[in-house]
Amino acid sequence: MVNFDLFDQLANLLASTPQKKKPRSSAPRPSKQESEHAIALDGRRLDYKVVRRRGRRGVGLKVDGNGLTVAASLTTPLSAIEGAIDQHAGWISKKLGEWSQRRVVPQRWETGATVGFLGEPLTLMVDAGHARTTVERAMAHLFVKVKKGEAAEIEKAVVAWMKKEALPHFAQRAFFFARLHQLTPPQVFLSSANGRWGSCNSRREVRFSWRLIKARPAQIDYVVCHELAHLRHMNHSAAFWAEVRRMCPEFETLKKELDQHDHQFRAF
Ligand SMILES: [Zn+2]
Repeated sequence: MVNFDLFDQLANLLASTPQKKKPRSSAPRPSKQESEHAIALDGRRLDYKVVRRRGRRGVGLKVDGNGLTVAASLTTPLSAIEGAIDQHAGWISKKLGEWSQRRVVPQRWETGATVGFLGEPLTLMVDAGHARTTVERAMAHLFVKVKKGEAAEIEKAVVAWMKKEALPHFAQRAFFFARLHQLTPPQVFLSSANGRWGSCNSRREVRFSWRLIKARPAQIDYVVCHELAHLRHMNHSAAFWAEVRRMCPEFETLKKELDQHDHQFRAF
């Protein structure tokens, strides 16, 4: 199977000594506190959030689509938090840079908006007032006829169209590569997985996320070859990757491309 990571995380950077239980003060403290802070990093202002929890050991740093979050105990001094940020400034900058490139842009569902299909943008042409929903592609345009023209209605119609196009594409490529490499063609199914391009089981059933149809044909071929290689090796051993390379010599570049652009496939 092919997975991609959602989070980049550094946990428990500073192993602190466990806190001695202090005598309970008269005013009860909350078990969790959140606060906003800012620090200069590489000469630029970096806003970050501190989440303090009772009993938390050490300082943890996490970078995701919301920026930097620091996990600490209720009593960790701010200087220790800033020290941890300073010490890992390079890692933080790198992760922030990666995340700024892979932010999921919300999909618009209206005339003029584009959806990706086989690596090309298709411009939506929405026409409301139709009793029957139809979706037709004409070159770089996707004509969507719907009843009311609401976003949810358009999305449903476009997703259904993509699934209808995706299955024969994946099945044909799987058949082609199976024949080319002397494998019995597997049964091909679609999945709605959002974090996995493909999967394969011991019953020779291969599943591909319908979202993969947004990718370039060469990238789809890599995922197809990846899953077919699992028919020979049900693992990610060196022998498995050698098989992938034999079927798809460009696989390293294609895999990297897919990993770097996975956010685009998650938009809908
Ligand atoms: Zn795999």
